[in-house]
Amino acid sequence: MTLRDRIIQVEARIEAAVRSNGRRREEITLIAVSKKFPASAMREAYGLGLRTFGENYVQEFADKQPELVDMPEAAYHLIGHLQSNKARVAAELFGVVQTVDSVKLARRLNENATGPLEVMIEVKLSPEDSKSGSAAEDLPGLMEAVQACPRLRLTGLMTMPPWSADPAETRPYFRELAALARRHGLPKLSMGMSHDFEAAIEEGATHIRVGTAIFGARPKP
Ligand SMILES: *Cc1c(COP(=O)(O)O)cnc(C)c1O
Repeated sequence: MTLRDRIIQVEARIEAAVRSNGRRREEITLIAVSKKFPASAMREAYGLGLRTFGENYVQEFADKQPELVDMPEAAYHLIGHLQSNKARVAAELFGVVQTVDSVKLARRLNENATGPLEVMIEVKLSPEDSKSGSAAEDLPGLMEAVQACPRLRLTGLMTMPPWSADPAETRPYFRELAALARRHGLPKLSMGMSHDFEAAIEEGATHIRVGTAIFGARPKP
């Protein structure tokens, strides 16, 4: 399958999911997760109409970015864990940082942003301690701190459930994130990946993060 074939297939899956849930295609932002793929693959995807890219590693994206300067409509979201010491570079390179998970990181981003920076809070909904993200009980305090940062614009929540091949296993996390966002009045929800984005759309996702289903299997490091 070519990149074009895979994008068509992903679009058909999104269409089917929005249709069967009484939602509209425009409500869903497809984030093409390009980690571990070269700038050339992103350029090809842009040529095929994709506009929003998700990257996990600040340095990897900094290396690719010079090859992407002639893609004026492209938007870049940081979807990987961000260390405070990389906040300055991240604030420069990304339009949206989806993985704010501490007051310290929020303040660093705020200090280093040159203009308004859209952010989401990453919420950790499972006890698995290897995962980054704010605990749900810390969310009110973190939200307050982020909203006190004049350059940060908090728009939503993001989550990455424990990996499971079965969407029935990840769906409860999507539902829980949607409930949290509703309770806190946040409009955007970043959840769902290649194998489970239909369940995420059904539970209210506004942003789905799709890597493998678009670009194919990631090259091994
Ligand atoms: C890699 C990654 C994705 C994409 O995963 P696929 O299964 O390849 O679609 C989505 N979200 C995050 C946070 C990721 O790190």
